[in-house]
Amino acid sequence: MDFELSPRETAFRDELRSWLAARLPDEWRSPHPKEPWSDATRELARRWQNRLAEGRYVAMDWPVERNGRAATLGERIVLQQELMRARAPRILGHVGLDLVGPALIAHGTEAQRTRFLEPARTAAELWCQGFSEPGAGSDLGSLRTRAQLAGDHYVVNGQKVWTSVADVADFCFLLARTNPDVRKHAGISALIVDMRTPGITVRPLHQITGEAEFNEVFFDNVHVPRENLVGAEGEGWKIAMGILSHERGPMWAFMFHGYMNADLRQLIELAHQRGRRDEPLTRQRLADAWVGVEIMRLLGARSLTAEGRGEHLGPRTSLEKLFGSELSQRIRELAMEIVGPDALLAIDEPRAPWEGRWQRFHLFSRSETIMGGTSEIQRQVIAQQVLGLPRG
Ligand SMILES: Cc1cc2nc3c(=O)[nH]c(=O)nc-3n(C[C@H](O)[C@H](O)[C@H](O)COP(=O)(O)OP(=O)(O)OC[C@H]3O[C@@H](n4cnc5c(N)ncnc54)[C@H](O)[C@@H]3O)c2cc1C
Repeated sequence: MDFELSPRETAFRDELRSWLAARLPDEWRSPHPKEPWSDATRELARRWQNRLAEGRYVAMDWPVERNGRAATLGERIVLQQELMRARAPRILGHVGLDLVGPALIAHGTEAQRTRFLEPARTAAELWCQGFSEPGAGSDLGSLRTRAQLAGDHYVVNGQKVWTSVADVADFCFLLARTNPDVRKHAGISALIVDMRTPGITVRPLHQITGEAEFNEVFFDNVHVPRENLVGAEGEGWKIAMGILSHERGPMWAFMFHGYMNADLRQLIELAHQRGRRDEPLTRQRLADAWVGVEIMRLLGARSLTAEGRGEHLGPRTSLEKLFGSELSQRIRELAMEIVGPDALLAIDEPRAPWEGRWQRFHLFSRSETIMGGTSEIQRQVIAQQVLGLPRG
């Protein structure tokens, strides 16, 4: 397992640190950057992504001629770590950067690349991911939203749900069924849908945190130009899944490690302030959490090393997702116990410890074992595809 940065990664890290020192204003930094769900934080997220794009510090995996850097996975992880270290704001354009960009670069037409890539990179245009439906989440292949070809356009009818940022997105990367008569995955196609097209209704859904990150999206005879098909008809599943599974594990591992490492340090400080740090049981649980965070780092390093050797990570990435999301929940629960009754004070309550963030993290962490594939599904993947156990 390789723990050291390569000379190329070290040079990249040093260059990035100087850039951040010069280009990230102090007033934009925060020990725990807020999620970009309010108007103010959303605007900051856009401005920050735009500035990162000027330095070519987003879409780093894109080719150089598309204003990327053809960066290695190791460099992209260094970027993530350095942004956390610099306490940089969050960005909002992940769907455009990590899904739409790679999809258009690999499968799009030249006209699609020219039209959509650069605005997605600079956050001039935002994208949402229209995959999940009522009745088609874990079993996404059963999706029922229909796209029927009628001359030079598709007519889309159906409903998506849990669509993050759909209320502010300019475009949707939509999976829809173009052929109901073939095997279920083979009948799915990927379409670029302008969110301002007549017939689209977006209804925000409020989460347990009180925020409305995601939405229901209804399509009622929505006309989508035929040239907005990505790849060939019936290739939507292959395109979307190929991109989503690629490199997920190490990225997840280092992301979870980064956030949880920072939060756990805060938590140990809080336990100290509240006179709880020397209680044997609290000490034991803090130590257990610390070991978990370290395991996360090691899982990431192992996957990154394997990826560097050209190994296909495939189903093994489920390990990072499962372990990281469940560890996150354990740490948040421990935080709630240490904070005690004050944990009931909500985010905007002035007396809430750490501005109520512990409560928000705890509530939000419920979603971590659902999004991107639930824990039950990860366990099935590990059991059947990594360990080779028989189907239950
Ligand atoms: C914060 C957040 C943001 C999201 N953003 C987006 C987005 O932008 N775009 C998008 O398309 N989707 C998004 N999603 C949706 C997400 O992908 C789905 O929630 C997820 O795939 C699970 O699907 P589901 O909610 O339909 O649950 P279901 O699939 O209905 O599962 C319900 C329960 O049944 C269990 N279950 C299901 N099948 C099996 C099985 N075969 N064996 C054992 N147990 C099973 C599950 O583990 C779960 O506990 C988001 C979700 C969250 C939480």
